[in-house]
Amino acid sequence: MLKLTKNEQDYLKTIYTLEGLSDEPIVSIQLVAKKLSVAAPSATEMIKRLSKKGLVLYEPYHGVNLSEQGHAQARFIIKSHRVWETFLVDKLGYSTEEVHEEAENLEHASSPKLVEYLYALLDYPVTDPHGSTIPSEVFWKKDEVEIPLSHAEEDKSYYITTLDSDAKAFFHKLKIKIPHFIRILERLQDGSIILKEDSGQISVIPQFLQENILLMQRTGSVASSLRTESL
Ligand SMILES: [Zn+2]
Repeated sequence: MLKLTKNEQDYLKTIYTLEGLSDEPIVSIQLVAKKLSVAAPSATEMIKRLSKKGLVLYEPYHGVNLSEQGHAQARFIIKSHRVWETFLVDKLGYSTEEVHEEAENLEHASSPKLVEYLYALLDYPVTDPHGSTIPSEVFWKKDEVEIPLSHAEEDKSYYITTLDSDAKAFFHKLKIKIPHFIRILERLQDGSIILKEDSGQISVIPQFLQENILLMQRTGSVASSLRTESL
């Protein structure tokens, strides 16, 4: 993802929100300016800048839309905001009323990596404390190669990096915790896989869901660094 200023991110978020609210195919600059409490000429200037970066499609005298890249950036900021609100309430005991202000600052200060780590730490929450849906797309990926669960090998350890909404619904429906650190115990004849989470929880994942769960292999590095530490 491009590195953007707080101001640029706020514009993308605002255009995203206005696109969702209006029936018009294009968002007027006046509306963007009003929403951000700035003068129309400075909104136009910023939108030209975002257009040069390929983040918006600007039609002079007409209005503005997000490009595909701008859309992804806006969704990332929204994810960052909502993940932080969830973290503040769930882990730090903030009240729902207090979190918006904090999240407004934290959303801009967070890298895609930090947001994805927090999101995983919180067990991939579906909504924030206000009930708004948290975008589930992953905006940061490790360099290592991800594989679908269907390609995992017995007796090897992995961590889950990506779950799509079907996979999440599966775990929610069974009312079991979404596993993170897993070991593949066995592949059954019908193609389903038995896996064991580090906590001891065992799940059976049917074949049709295995492409919806992406994994990365856990190498010996974690275990061996712990071993070195204890010497
Ligand atoms: Zn908020």
